[in-house]
Amino acid sequence: SINFSAGPSALPPSVLAEATAGLLDFAGTGIGIAEISHRSKEFMAFLDETEALIREQLQVPSTHRVLFAQGGGTGQFAAVVLNLLARDVLVRPTLAEGEERVLDYVLTGSWSKAALKEAQQLTAALPGVRLNTVVDAKALSPNNAYDRTPPHSAYNFSPDPALIFYCENETVNGVQFSKASESDVVDETGFPFHLLPKGKLLPLVADYSSSFMSRPIPRLADHAVIYAGAQKNIAPAGLTILIVREDCLVDTAAAALLGAPPVPSVLSYKYLSDGKSVPNTPPVFSIYVAGLVLRRMKALGGLEAFEDVNRRKKESVYRAIREGEERGVFRGKGAGERGMKSLKGHRSVGGIRASLYNAVEEEEVEKLVEYMREFVEAETT
Ligand code: PLP
Repeated sequence: SINFSAGPSALPPSVLAEATAGLLDFAGTGIGIAEISHRSKEFMAFLDETEALIREQLQVPSTHRVLFAQGGGTGQFAAVVLNLLARDVLVRPTLAEGEERVLDYVLTGSWSKAALKEAQQLTAALPGVRLNTVVDAKALSPNNAYDRTPPHSAYNFSPDPALIFYCENETVNGVQFSKASESDVVDETGFPFHLLPKGKLLPLVADYSSSFMSRPIPRLADHAVIYAGAQKNIAPAGLTILIVREDCLVDTAAAALLGAPPVPSVLSYKYLSDGKSVPNTPPVFSIYVAGLVLRRMKALGGLEAFEDVNRRKKESVYRAIREGEERGVFRGKGAGERGMKSLKGHRSVGGIRASLYNAVEEEEVEKLVEYMREFVEAETT
């Protein structure tokens, strides 16, 4: 069957076969990957290689660490607030009269709203902390829906925020920032990097859960934190990959003594980094599959090659959608008989949703497009 699930998502069959063998014998040790010590030299070497594969393909600069965590995207909704508030408190231990610590949120869909909600509950009782909605895309849409990125003129960034949050790809709503703003040319559908406060190390946080390793990350070096649950493009659930700039690896215990909210160790970036991503037991099997997937990516031409294939997959499906729309059709039916799974839209928005993660092959997408065209024919003739 063809799995179009939004996550956990399809993984390459060749990797799954290799991982199955690894469950019995990891790296020639005679011990399975789920059973071997995460401190063994074999596992540590594998972890280093996995990090190197990410660094190389995304061109992560030496200012940033790659960390492996647990807790998913949802864990990071809390972790980014706690670590960046601690950073702000260490930089500015006392606030002058009228001064505040502001957390800026860009709202483009369900996940950025969920992140804002988590920030609200973590900071509600803290004096001097305020949340600012930079822009709410729904309020600007003629359909009153999260169906597009907002125009740049609508953004209202704070002058000196402690955190700036955005979600690069809103998985439920299908809203993604274009990648064009990577260059100096400003593209209205890209994230407005040119409008961010200037002259400081930006506390810019991006949720890349559903687009990580599908294409290069624009302005990676300008980010404080980039995170992604691995369960879409990379591995089974349980692993969260972080790219954290070094100034965000702060002593959260010291910040707590100055009035910042206390941070549980497993959410502290410094704790994770000091412990080389294994301060406690990591999700070894997910890391193993991640490493195998990343090795395969590199062998197949790396991130740029995947970006090209992903662009073709996307364009093909959108073309078929436009054709169907022009002829007044679209409902999801009959896909099950063709072995196409998990096409039902998210429970909050309905409709159909095809997730085209890296492991979904171009030929599989073409089968979907073919079926969409057949369906339109049958409905309109
Ligand atoms: N952010 C985005 C963009 C997501 O797509 C998801 C899950 O689908 C999440 C956050 C939540 O991630 P998790 O389920 O790993 O907590």
